This record gives sequence, structure tokens and C-alpha cells, in this order.
Amino acid sequence: MKKGLLIIFSGPSGCGKGTIVQEIIKDENFCLSVSATTRQPREGEINGVHYQFLSREEFQSRIDSGAMLEYAQYCDNFYGTPADMVEKMRNEGKNVILEIEVQGALQVMKKCPDAVTIFVLPPSISELERRLHKRGTEAEEVIAKRIARAKEEIPLAENYKYVMMNDALETAVSDFYAIARAESQTYEANKEIIGEILSC
Ligand code: 5GP
Repeated sequence: MKKGLLIIFSGPSGCGKGTIVQEIIKDENFCLSVSATTRQPREGEINGVHYQFLSREEFQSRIDSGAMLEYAQYCDNFYGTPADMVEKMRNEGKNVILEIEVQGALQVMKKCPDAVTIFVLPPSISELERRLHKRGTEAEEVIAKRIARAKEEIPLAENYKYVMMNDALETAVSDFYAIARAESQTYEANKEIIGEILSC
């Protein structure tokens, strides 16, 4: 079986990457890695589904035991990707999506140079601010911190191979599928299969 892609999907908070990913994972060839975080659950968020919600001590002990593929501090909280499921799902042929911020993404790029990297841009900072207010999940001061962080993150799009604008959901979703389709047809992604064909 062909190994699934590892897709790093980043972009400022409020740019709509979560909505894009929810559409993408309706296709059973894709799955989303469930991150761990020390942030408090938002209304409706379920432990183990949206995040693994951990105390700071629990999060630190996961880091100490080497269980995190990457982790980063983002606006006063820690976020990290548990390593175990990522390899397991890829080996089952699934394309695994990491919806993570840039500092963590840079760590994964170093560890997994075959990762496909996509950065999502909002149409503008004012639109980002409008979306965060409309979402209504964060207090005013948290929104201000997230906007400040967005201004730091956007220049770091230079580390990503693909950059997409999310001004229309349908287009962003089809762009995502187009990237994944092309990336699964590179020579690198098919090297093992070629070896298997020749050995039969
Ligand atoms: P939120 O609090 O809005 O759910 O997430 C805040 C930011 O943390 C978002 O940019 C999100 O992509 C990022 N994030 C979520 N999970 C992880 C993770 O496992 N690692 C890293 N580095 N960032 C994450």
C-alpha cells in the first residue's frame, strides 16, 4: 500500500483553515491529526475529538517522554502534535493533515522533509479581524493577541511550498485537493511502489 502524505496546513487564526479541513476530511483518504493543548475547551469542543485537553503538567510530561512530534506556545497556551497516530495513519495509506501554527510547522519540516506544506492567507488583516469577531469564541484581548501573531506569521509563509488565499471556501477546498493529488504523483511519493513493481 502506498504511504499517505503528511500535509502541514498553517495560516493565521481566523483565516478559515479549520473550515477547509472539515470539508477535506469528508473524503476518507484524508484525516486530521488531533492535537493536544493546554487551552480551555470552547463551547461544544469535545476532549479527544477537537483536541486532547491537557493540564500544563500533563503537556510537559508528554514533551519529556518524547511523545510529541512538535509543540509550540501560541498566545499563552501550548499546542502539540502527538507523534504516534501520524505514522500509523500514514502507513495505513491515509493523507494526514496537521493543522498547526508556524513554529510547530517549522519543527515538522525539519523532521519530515517529505511533508507537503500549505499556508492559507486571509484576503486582508481587516477581514481576519472581522472573521474573529464574527466567530465570537475569543475575548477582545485574545483577538488582539491573535491579530498581532497573524502579522508575525504571514511573512513566514516563505517557508511553505504552497500558498492559497481563502476568500471562497469551495475554491480553497478544490485547490487543496489539487495540491494533494499532484503531490501524491511525484517520483518521490512513488519510489517504493516502483521498487515493488520491479521486484515482482
Ligand atoms: P485554536 O486555539 O484557535 O484552536 O488554535 C490556535 C492555533 O494553534 C491555530 O493556529 C492552530 O492551527 C494552532 N494549533 C492547533 N493545534 C496545534 C498543534 O498541535 N501544534 C501547533 N504547533 N499548533 C497547533
